Amino acid sequence: MAVYRKVYRFRMEPTRAQGEALLRMAGARRFVWNWGLARRKEAYAATGKGLTYNQQAAELTALKKQPKMAWLREADSQLLQQALKDLDLAFTAFFEKRAGFPRFKSKKRDEPRFRIPQRVKVEDSKVYVPKVGWVRIRQSQPVDCPIKGATFKRDGEGHWYVTLTAEFEMPDVPLPPANPERVVGIDLGLKDFAVLSDGTRIAPPKFYRRAMKKLRKAQRELSRKQKRSKNRDKARHRLNRVHARVRNQRQDWLHKLTTDLVQKYDGLCIEDLNLKGMAKTKLSLSVLDAALGEFRRQLEYKSIWYRKHLAVIDRYFPSSKLCRECGAINQNLALSDRVWTCECGAVHERDLNAAQNIRAEGIRNIPVAVGHTETLNAWGEGVRPARCRQSSLNQESHAL
Ligand SMILES: [Zn+2]
Repeated sequence: MAVYRKVYRFRMEPTRAQGEALLRMAGARRFVWNWGLARRKEAYAATGKGLTYNQQAAELTALKKQPKMAWLREADSQLLQQALKDLDLAFTAFFEKRAGFPRFKSKKRDEPRFRIPQRVKVEDSKVYVPKVGWVRIRQSQPVDCPIKGATFKRDGEGHWYVTLTAEFEMPDVPLPPANPERVVGIDLGLKDFAVLSDGTRIAPPKFYRRAMKKLRKAQRELSRKQKRSKNRDKARHRLNRVHARVRNQRQDWLHKLTTDLVQKYDGLCIEDLNLKGMAKTKLSLSVLDAALGEFRRQLEYKSIWYRKHLAVIDRYFPSSKLCRECGAINQNLALSDRVWTCECGAVHERDLNAAQNIRAEGIRNIPVAVGHTETLNAWGEGVRPARCRQSSLNQESHAL
């Protein structure tokens, strides 16, 4: 049995009292994080050594016994321990040069959030939060596997969301072979969000352009405000609100798209995340980047969940430059070339050619049903070494 992770995210509808209780939990988490960080710094200054998670957990137990710290006991104890674990992870990331030095959490700058590793339940469109109680949620889908952890977060719009990480097991029996007619290559881009090897074009969502404008405006306003001023706080709030709205719209749109794709096809071939030198602004790149990453993440877990094949092509595979008729590689292909002619005479529409090449490369790693013969490319199979790999689902998807 292999164990996979699935993620659910629901909007919460706390009562006013529950909203305040959630904020207190987030406040307790922030307090413990900051206290833990300060303690590590002190210990380092005094002894030249940091503190381990176990040392800090013992210190936390002592801290909670102090009379003036009684309020901390109102928070779920696992939530507080989780704050120290998150801090420990942040230090590990720092030592491994994956992240900067952990910084203090600020009430103004950081969105309220906390994590609970256990004892969170979902029933009848309600989520059980230890020490807060049953909070109503907009449950858009059933939670059909055991919950292994929950993150609660209030976004820039002031809405609370719960992200549940669940685990499910899948027997290690091989997937049924795919009907090659239902294997698709997907080329991701900016002009079209995706072009499929069967010619389908998926336009970027309509809200994109408008969102981009609003983000740019909100960012400009923020940068014009004086540091540490009231107006700057307001501008930061506005920017957070725009970010939150874009994220929510993007999530809804992507969920619908990935579910449609996984239901429609037996096999899906995509390129490894690769922005292919798309000449764009930093902002549009960051938004696109997030959308592509999320698209990939959803496709990965949904293809496991729906038992479909997913082939991820190496990012150095020249999907756009390769002529699918003769196998020649067009080294002179420029980013602006939407249509190009190969020396063999074939005329290619850039993204469609790429999608079809991605499909041809990916299907080599997908068992196809007997009785169907996959049409080979003109230059036959095995010219290039296989560079596909089956995707694996192993990253932690929390973004704390
Ligand atoms: Zn050619």
